[in-house]
Amino acid sequence: MHALIDLYSDTKTRPSNGMRTAMANATVGDEQAGEDETTLKLCARIASLLGKEAGLFLPSGTMANLISILVQTRPGDELIADAQSHIVSTEAGGAAAIAGVSAYALASPHGIFDAAQVARAIRPASRTSPRTAMLCVEQTTNFSGGAVWSMEQLRSVLDVARGAGLACHMDGARLLNACASTGVAASDYALGWDSVWIDLSKGLGCPVGAVLCGTERFVGDAWGWKYRLGGAMRQSGVLAAAGLYALDNNVAQLARDHENAARIWRALSAHTLFRFDPPAPQTNILRFAFPGAEIDNVEFVDLCARRGVRIRALERGFVRVTTHLDISPDMADAAAATMLSAACELVRRKA
Ligand SMILES: *Cc1c(COP(=O)(O)O)cnc(C)c1O
Repeated sequence: MHALIDLYSDTKTRPSNGMRTAMANATVGDEQAGEDETTLKLCARIASLLGKEAGLFLPSGTMANLISILVQTRPGDELIADAQSHIVSTEAGGAAAIAGVSAYALASPHGIFDAAQVARAIRPASRTSPRTAMLCVEQTTNFSGGAVWSMEQLRSVLDVARGAGLACHMDGARLLNACASTGVAASDYALGWDSVWIDLSKGLGCPVGAVLCGTERFVGDAWGWKYRLGGAMRQSGVLAAAGLYALDNNVAQLARDHENAARIWRALSAHTLFRFDPPAPQTNILRFAFPGAEIDNVEFVDLCARRGVRIRALERGFVRVTTHLDISPDMADAAAATMLSAACELVRRKA
């Protein structure tokens, strides 16, 4: 019996010793007053990585999404996003509760919708409809299985949204996973999007944080909301130092996470018990369901947990498996073996 292998989320990493040393040695100041040098450095570095004028350090990606909505909409407006997106399906309804914005949720197979769907969702101006104000995409698509938007797909929805005067927002929690998968630069993916952020606490392995980027003016407006929501900090350099460490040391590891996801997929996809959707992993997230009636996804996840492998049951019978910095190839292989034996056991029990 091995120790727990936690594939529930790529947030399950622990800061490495190198990262902790960088945090302990960080130069700090008062972030709220713009005096924390390490935080300023991190924001400048990520803004440049994304090809934007400025960046804002935030406690979470959830706050990055909420602030992007608050700055670029008015209460009563509507945003367009995929039905499985983080903004629509989680965040405790923050867009509605705090920004007063409703969501026009699009159905799509892997979180990637097309220009025609966006065009149909944009409401003509009228006295009676909500104003369509914003388009949101997720790169990569989290609950839809880690799929990557291609440059062409992004460009086509962006063109329609721009043509209708919408604000365009990219939830780039795992944008750098897309880059590691395709070799496309983050600044290319982010080109033309008004607000874009990356999460530090997912594949990059930091304990906390996200950096939201856009024009100087956007970030100026975002600062007001950051403060108002209680997201302004003091000596945040200890946290930002983890982000700088991750940019230097952990971005290159994302390819290994993708290879580990592929290892698990290779071990399981040969068996007809599992139906992968997307059919093959594109990044560090695998999503599958069970085509046969014998296996219930929640029972499967429970059995795997009892056998030391933590994964996540999603809606509609899906299971999500997420690799990350603290998962080695051996752990990926062991997890795949456990998942396979758990699935076989559930089939045997029903027989
Ligand atoms: C994790 C995640 C978020 C929220 O980020 P937190 O830092 O956990 O608040 C938003 N969008 C996507 C796609 C995510 O995966």
